[in-house]
Amino acid sequence: MNAQTRLKDMIPAREKLVVIGNGMAGCRAVEEILERDRDRYEITIFGAEPRVNYNRIMLSPVLAGEKTFDEIVLNTAEWYEENGIALVSGDPIDHIDRARKTVVSRSGRVTPYDKLLIATGSDPFIIPVPGRDLPGVVTFRDLDDVDRMLAAAERGGNAVVIGGGLLGLEAAHGLSLRGMKVTVVHLMPTLMERQLDEAAGWLLKQELERRGQTILTGADTEEIVEKDGHVGAVRLKDGREIPADIVVMAVGIRPATILARTAGIECERGIVVDDHMVTSDPDVLAVGECVQHRGTCYGLVAPLWEMCRALADHLTGASTGYAGSVTSTKLKVSGIDVFSAGDFSGGEDCEDIVMRDGARGVYKRVVLKDNKLIGAVLYGDTADGSWYFDLLRKEEDVSDIREGLIFGQAFASGGALADPNAAVAALSDDAEICGCNGVSKGQVVRCIDAGAHSLDAVRSQCKASASCGSCTDLVASLLSLTLGGEVESGPASMCKCTSFTHDDVRRLILEKELKAIPQVMQELHWTTPDGCAACRPALNYYLLCAWPGEYEDDQKSRFVNERLHANIQKDGTYSVVPRMWGGVTNPKELRAIADVVEKYDARMVKVTGGQRLDIFGIRKEDLPAVWADLNAAGMVSGHAYGKSLRTVKTCVGSEWCRFGTQDSTGLGIRIEQMTWGSWMPHKFKIAVSGCPRNCAEATIKDFGVVCVDSGYELHVGGNGGMKVRATDLLCKVETEEAALEHCAAFIQLYREDAHYLERTAPWLERKGLDWIKAQLFDDPDAVRRLAARFRHSQRFMQDDPWAKRAAGERRDLHGHLATVVPAGKEYA
Ligand SMILES: Cc1cc2nc3c(=O)[nH]c(=O)nc-3n(C[C@H](O)[C@H](O)[C@H](O)COP(=O)(O)OP(=O)(O)OC[C@H]3O[C@@H](n4cnc5c(N)ncnc54)[C@H](O)[C@@H]3O)c2cc1C
Ligand code: SF4
Repeated sequence: MNAQTRLKDMIPAREKLVVIGNGMAGCRAVEEILERDRDRYEITIFGAEPRVNYNRIMLSPVLAGEKTFDEIVLNTAEWYEENGIALVSGDPIDHIDRARKTVVSRSGRVTPYDKLLIATGSDPFIIPVPGRDLPGVVTFRDLDDVDRMLAAAERGGNAVVIGGGLLGLEAAHGLSLRGMKVTVVHLMPTLMERQLDEAAGWLLKQELERRGQTILTGADTEEIVEKDGHVGAVRLKDGREIPADIVVMAVGIRPATILARTAGIECERGIVVDDHMVTSDPDVLAVGECVQHRGTCYGLVAPLWEMCRALADHLTGASTGYAGSVTSTKLKVSGIDVFSAGDFSGGEDCEDIVMRDGARGVYKRVVLKDNKLIGAVLYGDTADGSWYFDLLRKEEDVSDIREGLIFGQAFASGGALADPNAAVAALSDDAEICGCNGVSKGQVVRCIDAGAHSLDAVRSQCKASASCGSCTDLVASLLSLTLGGEVESGPASMCKCTSFTHDDVRRLILEKELKAIPQVMQELHWTTPDGCAACRPALNYYLLCAWPGEYEDDQKSRFVNERLHANIQKDGTYSVVPRMWGGVTNPKELRAIADVVEKYDARMVKVTGGQRLDIFGIRKEDLPAVWADLNAAGMVSGHAYGKSLRTVKTCVGSEWCRFGTQDSTGLGIRIEQMTWGSWMPHKFKIAVSGCPRNCAEATIKDFGVVCVDSGYELHVGGNGGMKVRATDLLCKVETEEAALEHCAAFIQLYREDAHYLERTAPWLERKGLDWIKAQLFDDPDAVRRLAARFRHSQRFMQDDPWAKRAAGERRDLHGHLATVVPAGKEYA
C-alpha cells in the first residue's frame, strides 16, 4: 500500500450527486450547493443538449438577432472543470435504476449516485392535429429550435406561430425581425390571456398588427397542410388556410416527468416534491419546471432560484424549505412594455383601480383585496412594475396610498395627494386642461362662471373633457373650486365605469371611429378594466349599430338568453320560439314542431301573444339538435330572447275578413322579412291590422300599421307591458312600399338614437314626437337615407344564429359544464 493510497483511504469518500438536466435549474442548484459546501459532493451532470448551460430565456433575443449564443452562456466549459464537475453533454439519461442507485445514459454509460437530482425541465406541448410531424413544424425550447427557425428565416417566406402567449409572441417577433411574414394563430379571444386582461391584450394586438404581424384570435387550428413533403399551410377550423414555410408551435409546456414516472417516483402533473425538493424517494430530488410543489407547476425562472436555494440548504444539512412563489412576467419584445403579476381575475370582493391614457397607449390596472394589492397589469408604462410586485409579495396594506397607487411609486409616496384640488388651484390660467380640444384652465373657469354648473354643461359649452375624458377629474376639481357645493350633477353617466352619458358614448364612437369594446374603454378612459354588466352589452350594441359589417358581435357582452339564443326558464330549461312570418304557418312547420316536442320531451307548447308557438322545457344540451330539426323544416330563430325585432302580428285582412281594407297579412309578412334579425336597443314589436277595428292590436306596438281605405296609418311608440302606452300617429302613407320604407326609417332612427335598454315608448316620451317627426320629415330625403342605412345593416344581421349553432359553432356553451381556463404560471 503506497502513501497515496493510504491518504485516499483516510479521506472519507465524497457522496456522489448526479444531476439529470444541464439547464437553468440543474446548474443553479449545483452553484448553490458549491457555495455552501464545495467538497461535499462528487458531481456529475448529464445534459441532453450537446452544449454547456445557457440562459434559456435569452433564446428570444438570440432569435431576434439582439444577442449571440456566446453572450447567453451561463456556465462555460472552464467553470465545470474548475469546480470538478463531470459534464456529460449530448447524452441524455434514459433510465433510473432506483434499486441499484444508478442512472443509465443513452450511450449505455451507467453512473452510480448517492443523491440524484432530476432537473429535466419541460417538453413543449404539441397540439394533436394532422400534419404536426411534418418537416418545418418546430417548437421553441432550445438552441436547436432557434437554429431551425433561423434557417427557415434565411429562405424567407411565411411563418405561422400557433400560440399567442409570451413564447409565441417572442417567436413571432424574432421571425418578423428576420424578415418573415408572420401570422399568429391564437385560440383564445385575447393575446396572452393568462398574463393580461382583455384591455391590455387588445392594446398588444393593435401594436403587433401595427408592426405588420397578422394576429388571428379565436382561431382554432384544424390541420397543418403538407406541400411537397414539407409544411405548406395551416388550415383553421373555419376553413381559412394560411400559407406557411415554417410553423412554430408555442401552445404550452408539460413538465418532463417521463424518467421519474417510469422509475416509480410519484408524479401528478409534475414530479411531486416536498418543501425541500425531495421526491417520494428520499434519495431523489427534483427541481425546476419538472416539479410540482404544493400542487403548482411553475414555468418561469424566478421560482427556480428559490427552489434551488431550499434544495441546496437541504443537501448541505440546513432545512429552510421552499414555500411556493408569487410570479410576475414581462414580454421580451423590444418597444412593447408589458408587465403582469399576481391574480387579476377580479371578483366581487376585489376592487379594481384603472388608469388609461389613450394618447400614450398606456393602460394600468391594480387589483386590491382587503386593502392589499393582489394583482397588477401594466401596458405601455411598466416602470412601476417592480414596485407593485414588491407590494404584492409583501402583502402590504395600501390603504394610506390607495388614492395615488395607480400613478406609481413617485406619486403615491410623494404626499402630493394631501389635497388633490390644491394642485389644480395652483395651475396658471393658461395651463392646458383639455388636450383634445385645447381648452385652458382660464377658459374652463370662465365657462363655469358663465353658468355651466355641471360636467355635462362644461362639456357642451367649452368642450373640455368632451372627447377622451382623461381630464374629467381636472374639470371636476375646477367645478368644485369655482362653485363649492353648487355643482350640479347633470345627466347620469352610462354606468359606474365612465363619466360619459349614453349619448356621449354613441357620439364619440362615431367621431373617433372606435370599433372595438377595448378600444372604446381605452380611448374614453373607462375606470374599470373590462366594463360591467351595464356598459358591455350597451357598447356591444352601439358598435354593432355604428359599424355594420365591420364590428364583430361580442358574445361575452350578451346576456345569457342572447348568448344561448333561447329563453332560460324557472327550472333551468329553455323555451324555443321558431319564427312564423306574420303569424302564418303551414303543415310542414307544424309537423316539425310536433316532432320536436315529442323527440325532446318538451313539456308544453303555447301560443304566444305575438302569434307564435313557444316550445317549453328544452334542455340546454339539446338546443342545437332542436334548432337543426326546425331549420330542416325551413324555420329560423324567432329571436324571442333578443333585444331585437320579435314578432309582426297580423290580422287576416282583406283576403278573409269582410271589414278588411288592405292585405294586412301580406304586409306583415313583408315587414317581418325586412326587419327580422335586427339588433335593437330593446325588444321591438310590430303589428298590422287590416282596418281600424284593430284586431292585431297595432296601437300598443313599437310600430303599428292600421290599414284604412285610403292607405296605411303608421303608429309608433306603443307598449302593452306593465305600463301600457297607446301609440302616437306618426303619419299616413298611401302605398305598401311607403309603409315599408317608413317602418325601416323609424326603426333605424330608434336604433341610432335610443339608449340601450330604452324601449320606443320612453324614448319617444324623452325625445318628443315633434323631434322624431322633425328627424324624419324636415329633410325630404331623411326617410330614404335612414331606410337605406337600415337595409345596409340588415345585410349583415339576417343570418340565422340557430343554423350556425346547429352546425357546431360555440359548442362549448351547450355542454353540461362551462370551460374553465386556469390562470397560468408559466412562460407560455
Ligand atoms: C424561448 C424562451 C423564453 C423564455 N423566457 C422567459 C422569461 O422571459 N422569463 C422567465 O421567467 N422564464 C422564461 N422562460 C422559461 C424559462 O426558460 C424556464 O422556466 C427555465 O429554463 C426552466 O429551467 P429548467 O432547468 O427547469 O428547465 P430547462 O432550462 O429547460 O433545463 C432542462 C434541461 O434538461 C435537459 N434534459 C431533459 N431531459 C433530459 C434527460 N433525460 N437527460 C439529460 N438531460 C435532459 C433538457 O435538454 C434541458 O437542457 C423562457 C423559456 C423559453 C423556451
Ligand atoms: S282588424 Fe279589421 S280587417 Fe283585421 S280582422 Fe279585424 S276586423 Fe278584420
